[in-house]
Amino acid sequence: MDAGSFDIRAVRTWIDGAFRPAQIRIENGVIVDIGPPHRGRAVTVPDDAVLLPGLVDSHVHVNEPGRTEWEGFRSATLAAAAGGVTTIVDMPLNSLPPTTTAEALEIKRAAAASSYIDVGFWGGAVPENLGALKPLHDAGVYGFKCFLSPSGVDEFGHLDTAQLNAAMEEVAALGSRLIVHAEDPALLAPDGALGRDYAAFLASRPPESEQSAIAAVIDAARRTGARAHILHLSDARSLPLLAAARAEGLDLTVETCPHYLTIVAEEIPDGAAEFKCCPPIREAGNRDLLWQGILDGVIDAIVSDHSPSTIDLKRAGGGDFGLAWGGISGLQVGLSAVWTEARHRRIPLETLLPLFTTGPARVAGLTDAGRIRVGAPAHFTAFGPEDVLRIDARRLMHRNPISAYDGRELRGRVRRTWLRGDQIFDVTEGGAGEAPRFRGLPAGRLLTAATAAPRPHEQELHRG
Ligand code: ZN
Repeated sequence: MDAGSFDIRAVRTWIDGAFRPAQIRIENGVIVDIGPPHRGRAVTVPDDAVLLPGLVDSHVHVNEPGRTEWEGFRSATLAAAAGGVTTIVDMPLNSLPPTTTAEALEIKRAAAASSYIDVGFWGGAVPENLGALKPLHDAGVYGFKCFLSPSGVDEFGHLDTAQLNAAMEEVAALGSRLIVHAEDPALLAPDGALGRDYAAFLASRPPESEQSAIAAVIDAARRTGARAHILHLSDARSLPLLAAARAEGLDLTVETCPHYLTIVAEEIPDGAAEFKCCPPIREAGNRDLLWQGILDGVIDAIVSDHSPSTIDLKRAGGGDFGLAWGGISGLQVGLSAVWTEARHRRIPLETLLPLFTTGPARVAGLTDAGRIRVGAPAHFTAFGPEDVLRIDARRLMHRNPISAYDGRELRGRVRRTWLRGDQIFDVTEGGAGEAPRFRGLPAGRLLTAATAAPRPHEQELHRG
């Protein structure tokens, strides 16, 4: 079996939205044939594991360059590989410079050369670059991110309603997409100390702030015909708004995150800032409704919103939820965390897989990721659904060892990950089966969006 060409065989392979037995031929890192299992040499996935396409995470903050001490491309992409993720799309903020110009994108791309997996990039839409998004679009970003409330860093400003409409008009003309952090600043408590009680923090960012901001996005999408995406939805009561907007033909997608589906406000201890993120983790009843949104097919993607900082910043104010950095580091544990909760709710793995693969790929417009098919790059992950995974924050691969999942015992573990046919991660090689092993040099590629021609004002709905 020579390096770039081999077969891989599994009893349960996730192909076209279903598990089936398959043998896949890989040549030069590309899938060239998919057929029923047959004799002959092959990498064989054990029967108690499933073979999945490499997962896609379209919402990751890698803070390199500029804040590499928060997170860098090497550590982030190691964490991704260990979590079965072979493609990430990097957010335009928290690195310096923020990705708001074509020059800044070039600096980002140079920093990302040390990645172990494939990396694409979002651009930023901020007050300073409105009207001048085209060079960044032409340079190959997958779309533009904006905030409707303060972003948390001074160099990445937020848009008011008029600016939101202007940004939508501009991305519609470019044939791009606007992805939105949707909280209405008028309904948020002012910045500052809130104390160590999680309830005070939760009350400072009420569900109405999400509902109001989402209504503004829907309004702007209706007016401009732009393609828009709601980032990290926490408030489940916003889902009917989105369902109704889609029913009228607007091209809107929405994501949520593992922490909203697995953690509830009632369980967050005083001062435990590792659970702080914006919008906040809400109550158990809200979590149930988010799961209903998954079952109803309203939610398109589950993505990490991996947004680390240094431990000092997470502990700023001695556990004051108003002063600590907001962001959860979940890149490595997403599928295991969500599967643990789904399994508890008797929801099958099949229901989740589109949300970790084709869903986020579609959100970002990635054409080659998240799917096992002939002609696609040979990105795979082998996942043992009944494996037990005990999370120790100090052993996760991201840079700063702090995690909202620390101490949790999860079900389901990524065993091996392949990128373009190269096995880049294997948990079983570490002797006791605990120490993850990585092979080889960084092998990731930097992805560039094919810049689409401007779209006419028509809707291309692809609900599946
Ligand atoms: Zn984010």
